Amino acid sequence: MERLVLRNANVLDGEHPAVGGRTVVIDGDHITAVGEEGVAGVEAGDRVIDLGGRTVMPGMATCHFHSTYRDLGATQAPYGSEFPPAYMALLSHQNLMTALSWGYTTVVGAGAGQDVEPGVKQAIESGLVPGPRFVPSGRELSTTAHGNDVVPWYWDMPASGAVRICDGADGFRVGVREQVKRGAEVIKLFVTGGHGVLAPKDRIELTRDELAAAIDAAHEKDVLIRGHLVNKRAIMMAIELGIDIVDHCDDMDDEVIAALVATGTFVVPSIYFPKVFAKIFPDNDAALAHMYDVLPKAEAAGVLLLLGDDYGATMFPHGSYGGELHTYVEDASIAPLAVLRWATVNGARLVGRSDELGTIAPGKLADLLVVDGDPSADIAVLADCPPVAVIKGGEVVAGALH
Ligand SMILES: [Zn+2]
Repeated sequence: MERLVLRNANVLDGEHPAVGGRTVVIDGDHITAVGEEGVAGVEAGDRVIDLGGRTVMPGMATCHFHSTYRDLGATQAPYGSEFPPAYMALLSHQNLMTALSWGYTTVVGAGAGQDVEPGVKQAIESGLVPGPRFVPSGRELSTTAHGNDVVPWYWDMPASGAVRICDGADGFRVGVREQVKRGAEVIKLFVTGGHGVLAPKDRIELTRDELAAAIDAAHEKDVLIRGHLVNKRAIMMAIELGIDIVDHCDDMDDEVIAALVATGTFVVPSIYFPKVFAKIFPDNDAALAHMYDVLPKAEAAGVLLLLGDDYGATMFPHGSYGGELHTYVEDASIAPLAVLRWATVNGARLVGRSDELGTIAPGKLADLLVVDGDPSADIAVLADCPPVAVIKGGEVVAGALH
């Protein structure tokens, strides 16, 4: 098989500042060499591309993704019951392809309708359809009458398409195991209200015993577990009990930051959604100002921050991912290079594949982006248009290399 040689590249390896004039050599699905011109010689049959100073960076990971959302909230349908399962599977795949075209070669689910995500992953992995590397989620678990338990009782339906009701510690163990059996590799819990959920942010919807049982059951099955966590009391409890991902983390403060660093718990701040909706929900203004203030402290302290947000909600479509990059850099004052590290190194670490993904180095999988400009100097070149080329496992899967 011919090697792909990308020469005259500005390389952002995921961990260090950009270095110009580099050559990246790809053999099959792996990177075999990175260095100065001539690092690996040129062999007969090599496909050599002169990038003219364009940037090569690792493929990104988006780690709070609802693949079955489209115009969520625009209809009266209960959460996750907006479409039949087959339609939802096709929608899931379409949204994953949109993410891939914007440079997200890894996608981690945060809850989806009708248990369709594991089957979509299977279709990608078996070669039936193209797509990113995908960690599928399932229905979101929480207790009877929690904020997204919105099916009227007189419909005599147990739950909606994206929610599975569990009560009691044993109920949560069964719920987690059922999602694992259906193929979920990341379990999502609704732990509190707030941040887009109609219940008040200070409400905790699970008891400590229920939360502990869910986390324990997920880890026993070697899957990730994440929680919609907004108030400090719940955030601290979930960190102490060993949750893998804190979603939103609105009440982050010095004590929360210290706990996150001590335990290595991941956080998806997902503040682009409240920013877009600040005009409609005035409460969001104060919450956003707080996050803009606290996120640089979290970054400086070494919290494992990740990209991802609630795309697919009404007026917040899939494909508008670039607004998130602008928000962290321009509103929260995070250096572009740090945001790129969240998207690459941290994402790979979350999915347990740091040895294969997240940086550009010999031996790693060739999940790479070619970008027209240097996103560590100007995030807009990555945020405002799709990469020139998206390479997954050595193959160009979106855009083109000329
Ligand atoms: Zn979400």
